[in-house]
Amino acid sequence: MSQTHTTDVAIIGAGPVGLFAVFECGMLKMRCHVIDALEMPGGQCAALYPEKPIYDIPGYPKVGALELIENLQAQAAPFTPTYHFGQRVEKLTRDGEFWVLESGTGTKIRAKAVILAAGVGAFGPNKPPLARIDDFENKGVHYFVQRREDFRGKRVAIAGGGDSALDWTLSLADVAARVMVIHRRDKFRGAPDTVDKVMALAKAGKIDLVTPYQLEALDGDPGALKHVVLKDLDGNIRKLEADALLAFFGLAMNLGPIATWGLNLVKGNIAVEPSTCETSSPGIFAIGDIAQYPGKLKLILQGFAEAAMAAHACHKIVHPGEVLHFEYSTTKGVPAA
Ligand code: FAD
Repeated sequence: MSQTHTTDVAIIGAGPVGLFAVFECGMLKMRCHVIDALEMPGGQCAALYPEKPIYDIPGYPKVGALELIENLQAQAAPFTPTYHFGQRVEKLTRDGEFWVLESGTGTKIRAKAVILAAGVGAFGPNKPPLARIDDFENKGVHYFVQRREDFRGKRVAIAGGGDSALDWTLSLADVAARVMVIHRRDKFRGAPDTVDKVMALAKAGKIDLVTPYQLEALDGDPGALKHVVLKDLDGNIRKLEADALLAFFGLAMNLGPIATWGLNLVKGNIAVEPSTCETSSPGIFAIGDIAQYPGKLKLILQGFAEAAMAAHACHKIVHPGEVLHFEYSTTKGVPAA
């Protein structure tokens, strides 16, 4: 639906760093709209490793990636951000004192400052070239696992030979009725320790390794997958009874339209002034994985600090002439959620 919104700060990317930027902006009395190409918040944490523990978030000896995202959303909630999911920002143009973002579906956000927290760019799965696969997406065919519980008691075919395929094989082996791993070669590319664990499960008869086979077709209806049809190198066909197919063939990642917005790029990332995270375009800031400066580490904790710096720098643009007194959160508190 085509709509125009006006706000103080537009944040592109609802990954961990974009979400924390909502909090930092909110603490400085700036309203935010957040837009993300994915259908849910969390960026890489939610899409790539939702159930993995993270060990290097200060104050949390161990926190699940999705739990971290839920906490970040809860932390941002008192500042009532507006989220726009499932929309990729295609254009960023200037109109008077506003930057104007435009998504592929026609949503426009006018903002005095823009925080680009777009990580590795909009990313999407490499999809196997199967007839009707679009009809089955999220109705039997999945490229990401949100919750392993969704697969409890199901017969799950997992296609791919890398870390994602193997990690989810180990994780789902406990809950699924059966896990079948389909790979075009007999050898797997995952971490050696993970490969060993998968092989041990197969040897114990707890999972099936179906190699060397490639996906050929889907049999059944969306929401009621019956078989995953496979073909070997000699053209022999094999049908696996399955309720779900998880296809892990890597991710296509690129900056996409961001690369055309005239920002100073360094090796596919956006160069920023380290003290403010401002890009070569005044009023546009870049934080998190997409930002580049000497000493940059692509870690969530560093992105959090960048969110604080960018928010302070945005304040001068959003509230020009207003003196910003530095205050601790313990002094200021937060609005009731
Ligand atoms: P992202 O999480 O990449 O989010 C960016 C968001 O921007 C995405 O949701 C994307 O859809 C959106 N976006 C991009 N372009 C557009 C556009 N044009 N329009 C709309 N939306 C757009 N880091 C750690 O600190 N500790 C760890 O232990 C750790 N483990 C990891 C394990 C794995 C397997 C992986 C893959 C990464 C790990 N990382 C870890 C790295 C960490 O996930 C990233 O540093 C972090 O996600 C960066 O956050 P971000 O918000 O900058 O970007």
